[in-house]
Amino acid sequence: MGEGGERLIGTCHCGGAHWTLSGDPGPVTACNCTLCRRYVALWAYDFENERVALNGTTTAFPRHDRKKPVLETHFCPTCGCLLCWRDLTTTADGRRRMAVNIRLAPPEAVAHLPVHHFDGLASFKTVPRNACVEEMWF
Ligand SMILES: [Zn+2]
Repeated sequence: MGEGGERLIGTCHCGGAHWTLSGDPGPVTACNCTLCRRYVALWAYDFENERVALNGTTTAFPRHDRKKPVLETHFCPTCGCLLCWRDLTTTADGRRRMAVNIRLAPPEAVAHLPVHHFDGLASFKTVPRNACVEEMWF
């Protein structure tokens, strides 16, 4: 895992929790679903304790709003920063899908990453647009 590759660390504002990501984060995703729209997160995906891992104390929101929740989000109970989401169930081979919020990474490490715009509100498809992380910050 991560041999010879880059290791990215995303830390909440108070430093109480952080995630790590090994290797190329790839394109990150901006989503307009009812939850992501409010969080303003940018997601990089992998599987828990494979290329991504969560460390420190977090509070989870397991989507009580859904009849059949599929994922939970994790945020710092002290400063409120959103760190990641992870699936509530594992795949047949025991892997757990997880996405980390790239906005918590050092700006210079992620500014160039391309952004995919995912229409999680309506069509559930990626909308073609050209943007990188730097253009999404503000
Ligand atoms: Zn914090």
